Amino acid sequence: MNETIDIKNPRTGEVDYHINATNPADISNLASRALAVQSEWLAIGLEERCKAISTFADLLETHSTSVIRTLEIDTGRRMLARAETLGVISNLRNWASLAPTLMPTPEWTQGRAKHNFKHINEYVPYKLVGVISPWNFPMMLSFIDAIPALLAGAVVMIKPSEVTPRFADVVTPIIKAAGLQDQLIFVQGGSATGAALIDHVECVCFTGSVPTGRKVALKAAENLIPANLELGGKDPLIITKDADLNAATSLALRASVLATGQACQSIERVYVPNAIYETFMEQLAEKARGVKLNYPDISKGHIGPFIFERQASIVAAQIEDAKAKGAKVLTGGTILSHGGGRWLEPTVIASVTHDMDIMREETFGPVIPVMGYETIEEALFLANDTEFGLSGAVFAENIDAAKAIGKHIEAGAISLMDGALTGQYFDAGKQSFKNSGLGGSRMGVNGFLRFFRQKAYIANTTAPLRLEDFSE
Ligand code: NAD
Repeated sequence: MNETIDIKNPRTGEVDYHINATNPADISNLASRALAVQSEWLAIGLEERCKAISTFADLLETHSTSVIRTLEIDTGRRMLARAETLGVISNLRNWASLAPTLMPTPEWTQGRAKHNFKHINEYVPYKLVGVISPWNFPMMLSFIDAIPALLAGAVVMIKPSEVTPRFADVVTPIIKAAGLQDQLIFVQGGSATGAALIDHVECVCFTGSVPTGRKVALKAAENLIPANLELGGKDPLIITKDADLNAATSLALRASVLATGQACQSIERVYVPNAIYETFMEQLAEKARGVKLNYPDISKGHIGPFIFERQASIVAAQIEDAKAKGAKVLTGGTILSHGGGRWLEPTVIASVTHDMDIMREETFGPVIPVMGYETIEEALFLANDTEFGLSGAVFAENIDAAKAIGKHIEAGAISLMDGALTGQYFDAGKQSFKNSGLGGSRMGVNGFLRFFRQKAYIANTTAPLRLEDFSE
């Protein structure tokens, strides 16, 4: 019996969709189906795989209206649902044009110390790659690792979040129309399905929270397979005294509340010199008051509802904890129930300290806690006073000054003169620091190369050594 999972609409709070969880036996059968075509998928060569991926991109574009409409229901937002779908299409095309230029072309190489040996490498892809994705950008984060894995020659099984699974049911027939139904398989379900998937793949790419990431890492370790983990963040933004104040407040607002703050690379903490703190807060609060919810009309406003109802309670508890410890909420601060959905206006919080959960735990909401600092050393100490190391940002008088400060932030990607740039720019390789992840970069060239194992052919050009050559 497959478990039926109720799916809530984030704008209405109503259960208006159901999925049947793929059970472990079905996963096993689907994995066998995928593995049965993998050798042929590899044998057709990279050029043909690029063509197949391009065909899929074209079909996705042809059917983009229905995909966007479904993703809009999953996430309660229109503009970003469109941007996300178009982003996946362009990602498919970008990887299809880039992958052939990244594919290593091995040659025989003579041994450096031992000249009688030579070697040549072969790049052998993992056969079956598993992808487990979260609910905040459900489609982008399902495909971001799947596309380069497919191009490498692997077949891929994706388990999207059970909070936002609808888009996958609309994309599946498009995958079939592209002839990729055996190479690219969606399975539906929650934690049990995710755990079962790890038992059948040779490599797992997981995007989600730190606690679940640990479980995935443990299961991958048990199975002795690599786990690429992209986990949570608590990204700091340091603003310096010489920064353009107007630009800094606009940036702090956008980078914190875009997508209702439900992005791993959202700015979650802002550090501002004490000398400009009051002015900064006044300006930031005024701009925050200008942000509109996309309710009741989804086509108007700036930010949508909480996608996952439970997240609203987590954010509310963090705000209450901050207030109880002396923080001042300048805007927003109260979870609103509109039409059955849960919403929060941008919440600017002053007088915060690192004793508050809002400065330590991942918030994943449209909240901007701002703390003053006296010296850059203090700002850096505070920025690094965290278990996370996903990314960070510096806004100073220019790029060089920002980079000099960013050098000391312990995180995998630093946005300079902006914030949260890893949501807009995928070309730069980056790896997570601290608890924010594990494994090779999903961005940049390594995003493709990490799906290969290096196999070595080592040849002896002279007679093999005999055992006697090693006698005592
Ligand atoms: P989550 O960890 O709750 O769930 C992620 C996925 O894991 C879901 O598909 C879920 O069904 C599955 N899962 C749950 N238990 C599992 C288990 N035992 N074994 C295998 N799979 C299991 O995360 P979420 O709440 O969906 O997403 C929000 C989190 O994702 C935030 O922490 C956010 O920072 C993080 N995130 C990180 C990045 C990044 O690139 N670093 C990007 C987006 C989101």
